[in-house]
Amino acid sequence: MKRSLVGKGLVRPQLSELVINWHITEACNYSCRYCYAHWDGSGRELAHDIPASTQMLQNLWQYFHPQNLANPLRRAMSWQGVRLNLAGGEPLLYPAQVEHILSAANEVGFTTSLITNASLLSPELAQRLAPKLSMLGISLDSCTPMTNSQIGRQGRHGQQLGIGHLEEAVCGLRRWNPKLQIKLNTVVNALNCHEDLNTVIGRISPQRWKVLRMLPVVTNALMVSDSDFQGFVARHQPQAEIMCVEDNTEMVESYIMIDPLGRFFQNASDQSIYSYSHPILKVGVEQAFLAVGMNPAKFCARYQVLAEEEVA
Ligand code: SF4
Repeated sequence: MKRSLVGKGLVRPQLSELVINWHITEACNYSCRYCYAHWDGSGRELAHDIPASTQMLQNLWQYFHPQNLANPLRRAMSWQGVRLNLAGGEPLLYPAQVEHILSAANEVGFTTSLITNASLLSPELAQRLAPKLSMLGISLDSCTPMTNSQIGRQGRHGQQLGIGHLEEAVCGLRRWNPKLQIKLNTVVNALNCHEDLNTVIGRISPQRWKVLRMLPVVTNALMVSDSDFQGFVARHQPQAEIMCVEDNTEMVESYIMIDPLGRFFQNASDQSIYSYSHPILKVGVEQAFLAVGMNPAKFCARYQVLAEEEVA
């Protein structure tokens, strides 16, 4: 069923960028218990097919580029650029594919970013990737090895990324691209909700720190109570300038997301399942996008609104 994307207000927010999240793989070297990176369906992940990936990027650009007035989203908002954000799973399990996709996306017109757990980010890879990225997001849930182990944030043999190594990796990235924005993502759950990350956040000094409440898509086991979540946010008020808090309701229908098979997907409103479009390369971007919907008001609430313009 098609959903309306059109807002009814008299003003239209102008955003600096529209963000499209492509989860290029389900595979990950970690096994977080709350991991939401599980999608229905089977088949080869599109990122391993370079010509098909490039074609999808070109099709996405044609539909989402800022001047395409035929995009129905334009009735609700406008944007100056489009950022392709690669996520997973762990995208750096496939560094060659990531490099190719970033280059192809930059060539088409996207700015690009990447979300990673940073465990596979060698200095050599950082040198190759940093110049292609405008932003790199790193997930960091805890500074305590025991908590990371209980969450599942470690490799099969218990390997974890130490905070020292993470700081070195960030330093290297900034050296190769001084304009690179660093973002940290923390999923607040029952195991880390009492932790104090102020010191490490201060040392890494990201431009943005996203604090997400664990979304019970996959499991309720690590759910965090309202008061513990609010306590975590209050404890980290020294980071208020860079902290961006997302509670569960703000996450639903507020992202543009593509799964590893090249389909748009969306958090279902009951927060328990995803809904999917047909593959973008099969039915075209417009038909696929309209099939899953996105809430422009929620989307705008999460991004930097530059101005608001009157809508005739
Ligand atoms: S690091 Fe991310 S993708 Fe990997 S298991 Fe954890 S939540 Fe899932």
